Amino acid sequence: MSIHHLLLDIEGTTCPASYVSETLFPYAMKHLPSFVAENIQNNDIQNIIKAAQHEWTNDNSEASIKLKEIHPSTEGNSFEGVIQYLQHLIRTDQKSTSLKDLQGKIWLEGYQRGDLKAEIFPETAECFRRWAQDNIFISSYSSGSIQAQKLLYKHTDCGDLCSLIHQWFDTHTGSKKRAQSYSTISQHLKASPRNILFVSDSSEECDAASETGMLTLFSLRNSNPDQNSNGHGVIQSLHEISNYLEQY
Ligand SMILES: [Mg+2]
Repeated sequence: MSIHHLLLDIEGTTCPASYVSETLFPYAMKHLPSFVAENIQNNDIQNIIKAAQHEWTNDNSEASIKLKEIHPSTEGNSFEGVIQYLQHLIRTDQKSTSLKDLQGKIWLEGYQRGDLKAEIFPETAECFRRWAQDNIFISSYSSGSIQAQKLLYKHTDCGDLCSLIHQWFDTHTGSKKRAQSYSTISQHLKASPRNILFVSDSSEECDAASETGMLTLFSLRNSNPDQNSNGHGVIQSLHEISNYLEQY
């Protein structure tokens, strides 16, 4: 067997895409105002809000300018404007470092309170445990922050899976659609791309990984937005990965 490493996307691969779009994002959206109000004395939160205000100031998109007209002053004790700006970023699925930081803290509180429970595919935990037993290194690569990835795997309905994961990667390593990111990951894993199997529900991500020589599998589920494997091997359940592991 030449595959020693599995590199797994999360959304659409190990957990339903709907958990992120229909549970996590709406949860952050709803709790943003109360979370900021309750924690604004905290230095960390103040710094994140300052960073968000800075991002808003430099954002010259139409929606941002409109919000600036409604909330002309970003100073003082009113955080309504910046909160609305952050909610706008969630709604339009935009990348923002301060939003990611804040969402991570809101989700942490949600998981700790028991409001949130991560939904993973029914076979995910069983497969993780079996691969770990078979000495396969499982690493995670998601556009969600490493903090958010760890929270998700810590709070699944099948228990805490974090200890089964060897290394974590997010977009600090680079875009998931760029081959360079996968070269960087293989260096971090100290493994040749030929010994790494990457699984994702995005054919563009599979393309980028396969450019570096990684083996790829496309995760096809009815609920996934991308239904075209673009020539990559297709799996409909994580169980099928084991067949490929034996084959290579
Ligand atoms: Mg995905």
